[in-house]
Amino acid sequence: MRIHELAKELGVQSKDILSSLEEMGYESRTASSTVPDEAVPRLRAAGGHVKPGSKPIGARVQPLPATPRPSRSRAGAAAQQPVAPPALEIVPPLPEEAEAAPAPTEAAQAASAPAPPAVLVPRGATPQQLADRLGASAADIVKLLFQAGEMVSVNHSLSDDAILLVGTELGRAVEVVAPQEEPDEEEAVDEAHLSPRPPVVTVMGHVDHGKTLLLDAIRRTDVVAGEFGGITQHIGAYQVHQDGRVITFLDTPGHEAFTAMRARGAQMTDIAVLVVAADDGVMPQTIEALDHAKAAKVPIVVAVNKIDKAESDPTRVRQQLVEQGIVPAEWGGEYEFVDISAKARTNLDQLLETILLVADLQELRADPTIHARGVAIEAHLDRGRGPIATVLVQRGTLHVGDAVVCGAAFAKVRAMLDEKGKSVTEAGPSMPVQVLGWSHVPEAGDEFRTVADEREARHVAQEREARIRAAELTATRPASSLSELLVRAREGEMPVLNLIIKADVQGSLEAIVDALDKMPQSEVRIQVVHRGVGGINENDISLALASDAVVIGFSVRPDVNARELAEKEGVDVRLYRVIYQVLDDVRQALAGLLTPFEQEVELGRAEVRQLFRVPRLGVIAGSMVTHGTIGRGSLARLVRDGTVVYTGRIASLRRFKDDAREVAEGFECGIGLENFQDIHEGDVIESYEVREVARTL
Ligand code: GDP
Repeated sequence: MRIHELAKELGVQSKDILSSLEEMGYESRTASSTVPDEAVPRLRAAGGHVKPGSKPIGARVQPLPATPRPSRSRAGAAAQQPVAPPALEIVPPLPEEAEAAPAPTEAAQAASAPAPPAVLVPRGATPQQLADRLGASAADIVKLLFQAGEMVSVNHSLSDDAILLVGTELGRAVEVVAPQEEPDEEEAVDEAHLSPRPPVVTVMGHVDHGKTLLLDAIRRTDVVAGEFGGITQHIGAYQVHQDGRVITFLDTPGHEAFTAMRARGAQMTDIAVLVVAADDGVMPQTIEALDHAKAAKVPIVVAVNKIDKAESDPTRVRQQLVEQGIVPAEWGGEYEFVDISAKARTNLDQLLETILLVADLQELRADPTIHARGVAIEAHLDRGRGPIATVLVQRGTLHVGDAVVCGAAFAKVRAMLDEKGKSVTEAGPSMPVQVLGWSHVPEAGDEFRTVADEREARHVAQEREARIRAAELTATRPASSLSELLVRAREGEMPVLNLIIKADVQGSLEAIVDALDKMPQSEVRIQVVHRGVGGINENDISLALASDAVVIGFSVRPDVNARELAEKEGVDVRLYRVIYQVLDDVRQALAGLLTPFEQEVELGRAEVRQLFRVPRLGVIAGSMVTHGTIGRGSLARLVRDGTVVYTGRIASLRRFKDDAREVAEGFECGIGLENFQDIHEGDVIESYEVREVARTL
């Protein structure tokens, strides 16, 4: 009779039977296990509740499995689902959990039920804060950490490791997030309220190809802006009107700013305009800009500039870009090219129209009715007016008087100015405005959002500041390293190893890229996000950060700024002088990225010689171990005449009268199989394990 059947018969829960059985000295089992026949009468007599204290002397209860120490990584934490009941019963189960799942079957349920979402814990949280999030007591967490060898006080900021350890010990999936990343309560998207919003455009390209002049020219072309006095303000972005529609331009040109923002998690650009001077053609930074836009998956419009110049050759630019995989639409490709002159203001309308065309394909929409959210794109301290930040509203509408938080700064919006210095009372999606009234200068790239009132804004900002400070004190985790990429690979997605490759000369660069191309990529894709000749600069590092890439330097070194940024952000920079070492390392990284496969490892085999019926244990196979060892608790198969008749586990293992953990070749033992009694003489019991094995290429 199975445990749950008896529980039903007696009108109790399976866990009552399980604990009664333990009280009676039986080993831990699950609700689907059988109740030892001889125990049934006593359980029936006791109504399913055998009181503590009735445990016979010497009875053994299987210890709970040890919990593994957590890995250092965030993603690793998320992947660590509880596999066993917590080793320390500190948190009382939540009421609904207690009802839904009897404790001993939790592990079984965790395996089948979808994993609960990970609890997000800000980096540098204290035991108290962690306790609040996990619904545990801070004192218990301190105790638990103490037992694990870490002495901390309730208000001590914890390391990532410690936070993950607590999560694992409590059987909860915990994810450590940077303070800025902590998601705020999202307002639900109401389809009915979504309306089209202007595209946000960044201008990129090689130095001196005319980015600044183009931004200026477009700004001046704008009829609405033409009203009065010209435009003198550079607030970080501006809007122009074309065919009754609006386009927002970020007016800090170049991919450096773009990627620096993206590295901070702020993605605002909808379209990149790649400016290429028709007299100069594709240059190193053109390719860099392309790579940055591609890495961000931002659509590209190519503006072939300086066509007023006699020596300009727009066709050559097209040919050169085709070599980079950018095929013009007029040649059957998917990229729009517009020939312009920023200086002579030729075809600027056509460029704007093309931008709108590309924007239409993206169906850019936002809900203007909700609380405003967006990104600070520029900020400074003004002597007269105090801290000023230009924000780009991405969703909702920002009003004068709103309370906002932006990173660790907050404001009650005192006034808002558009790029013409004109005071506005509200700003909707894709609109940039200067906001006055900040507690201090926010950081460019920080996200802002509206909150209920100034008090809440102050509170949130202060809490963030405290956390950011705490997080700074705690060591930062490397963002991307070859080994960690393993856990980045999401289930169901083909893992990608992103690389940025810099080399001293074109020849070695090509050689490396070629060799990488030839590596088997059926399971992990190698993506060279950017390649270039020359030293590793700050830009490479921020691109690596933004696209989770590893930087490979061949016979080149990072400059001081790059080195500092890489260290600060934990970007993996690898330097080589020999090509095959590059390839070796990448191969290893790929092996790490490959999903480990499960390999069966045979532990041993035993032949059944004689059968016993043992009280409480059922049928025990008196066996001789013929190969290897038989391990208690290991996976097992029962083979009869070459056919597998049972797969399960070895539930009990005895040498003479004693329990044994394992029995080696040449010895006799008694083996009990979990939930299986139909053993015959002459059967073979195989004991095995399943191990995860990393693949090698
Ligand atoms: P940026 O470094 O890409 O921002 O380039 P700038 O906008 O500063 O332009 C670099 C130089 O090219 C300046 O001297 C501009 O006047 C000149 N320039 C830009 N666009 C044009 C153009 O369409 N035609 C000509 N002839 N010169 C241009």
